[in-house]
Amino acid sequence: MHSQQTKQKLFSFELFPPKTEEGMEKLKTQVKKLARVNPLYVSVTFGAGGSTQHRTVQSVEWLASQGIEAAPHISCISSSAAEIVEMLKRYKEQGIRRLVALRGDLPSGAGPGGRGELNYANELVALIRREFGDHFHIEVAAYPEFHPQAANARADLNNFKRKVEAGADAAITQYFYNADAYFHFLDSCEKMGIAIPIVPGIMPITNFSSLSRFSDACGAEIPRWIRKRLEAYADDVESIRAFGIEVVSELCQRLLEQGAPGLHFYTMNQSAATLKIWHNLGLPE
Ligand code: FAD
Repeated sequence: MHSQQTKQKLFSFELFPPKTEEGMEKLKTQVKKLARVNPLYVSVTFGAGGSTQHRTVQSVEWLASQGIEAAPHISCISSSAAEIVEMLKRYKEQGIRRLVALRGDLPSGAGPGGRGELNYANELVALIRREFGDHFHIEVAAYPEFHPQAANARADLNNFKRKVEAGADAAITQYFYNADAYFHFLDSCEKMGIAIPIVPGIMPITNFSSLSRFSDACGAEIPRWIRKRLEAYADDVESIRAFGIEVVSELCQRLLEQGAPGLHFYTMNQSAATLKIWHNLGLPE
């Protein structure tokens, strides 16, 4: 049993801001279903590219109007410090208390000139603490299989520690399907004196080609046995979903039993797979 075990487990959901009004209406239907199981908070991603940023604000406002604790993601790589502080002032006025603070990824094709004043997430966390004290609960990202741009595993752990020392309260991991990677990561963090909760990010499996593409880009490994099974199902969507639910439910079960402090579901704006896994785990509905 790992020492991250807490009495009260932390369960949260993640959404991305829809690009259209029609998408927003669909999202509302899905969120109403997800909200019935009372997650601690629902986070909304933020596009470093810029075009969907106002949609994050809009989605967060709607969540708050429904009495759901909303946690906007905020990334720093393509904004100035002044722009970030302005946005956070608005969130503070709206009663937002929780943020997911990230570096962000530049859109592909953007040159190095696109970089902002703040180049790493630890600098963003430090800015938020400097300007807003303890007003916000700050979540940061963690990478049990290591960030693809890290010089090496040790450097990535040291960089993670910098974010914690800058004032992060908790972390959410990149998704993974190998529980050992997560528990090894927790062990390394513990040895480095990092004591914040590190909540596994869970990606339900519903579509092989998009998962495969996304995993290649973000450095998350799909274990060979899972990849081979999914490839064999080809266009058989029902079998992919059934197998995906089984594999991810077993992963979550093991994570919780061995001491993960909670689970953060990347819902991809769909409630069905997340709620089925939730049900399989015997969590309160
Ligand atoms: P950092 O912690 O800054 O790390 C980035 C890289 O730089 C790592 O390789 C690290 O080892 C290295 N590094 C860190 N600090 C230093 C330093 N001081 N000196 C040298 N190297 C350093 N992206 C979005 O655009 N919008 C989102 O809403 C979003 N939400 C996410 C939510 C979660 C839970 C996760 C796990 C990721 C999310 N991402 C999002 C993706 C994220 O922006 C990318 O993974 C990005 O490449 C890294 O962000 P970070 O905050 O982890 O960066």
